Amino acid sequence: DWSSDVCSSDLVICNDQRFEQLKAAELNSVEIYSGLSVINDLVQLDKIDIVLNSLVGFAGFQPTFNALLAGKRVALANKESLVVGGRLITNLVNSTGAELIPVDSEHSAMLQCMVGEPKNRIEKIIITASGGPFRDYSPDQMSNISVEQALKHPNWDMGAKITIDSSTMMNKGLEIIEAHWLFDLPVEKIEPVIHPQSIVHSIVTYVDGSSKAQLGPPDMKVPIIYALTYPNRLQLESPRMDWTKQQELTFYPVDYSKFPCVKLAMEVIDDQDLAPAILNAANEIAVQRFLNREISYISIPKIVEKSLEKLTDSTEISLQNLINIDKETREFASRIN
Ligand code: MG
Repeated sequence: DWSSDVCSSDLVICNDQRFEQLKAAELNSVEIYSGLSVINDLVQLDKIDIVLNSLVGFAGFQPTFNALLAGKRVALANKESLVVGGRLITNLVNSTGAELIPVDSEHSAMLQCMVGEPKNRIEKIIITASGGPFRDYSPDQMSNISVEQALKHPNWDMGAKITIDSSTMMNKGLEIIEAHWLFDLPVEKIEPVIHPQSIVHSIVTYVDGSSKAQLGPPDMKVPIIYALTYPNRLQLESPRMDWTKQQELTFYPVDYSKFPCVKLAMEVIDDQDLAPAILNAANEIAVQRFLNREISYISIPKIVEKSLEKLTDSTEISLQNLINIDKETREFASRIN
């Protein structure tokens, strides 16, 4: 029974090949476990208070679900948990009293702006986006984007998948879905805005016309620590703004014709229950295929759109239905062009 011996320096890996390599490395005093099922059990252990979930993609859904089921605080950096199964996750939070605290910098900003405010006094959320490296590209330039160009993000240092998602702005689309579920707001009340400096992490406007924003240099340490310590704050050696220095903060509307992924994501919110799961799975496959140089950059939204047209069904949301539609979408999105 591993669960009684597991300790904070232990490690779980889901890649069988790497598991063998790690085992062979004989790391001092680190136990190594293998398999997603171990993670799914691990997050429910009594000795665990907080689960910080930063898995990438739909793989992160079940650990979030299980941790909430066990009444844990989940510090959520896996946005797909809410994107694909928002209804299941929020029902679970409401019924178990578990806590779901966002780590995503925009949602952390929203939460920080909402502390002490009555929820029904929110008029609108303005979610900021850097606009990625292609915000000034012409439609013509957009059609010739290479993998190397897309992997360079101007402000944030992140993994490959999310860097591509930032450049297509699908990341913002997924974050709008995430905000919809986290704060129980209709999509009409969530507005994306391009803010190239990534200093204002999001804005909440209230019914009296007052807006609150959370600002700071782009640094993921801040939202991570906030999610662990909320509603308190910890002393942190992070970069500071120098507000005495002359500088400009600029804001632009989103050009949906250049970034169709944002619109696609906003539309699935009021679509059928499984539509966000289709959007997410199709996007994961399309991004991977782009990184493998199988498809062009502008094919990413096309594959997502075709998958939504072909696969959207009226089946109601359940864990099993999510797993099924995820698999079906991945197969479909892998073979279309
Ligand atoms: Mg974000």
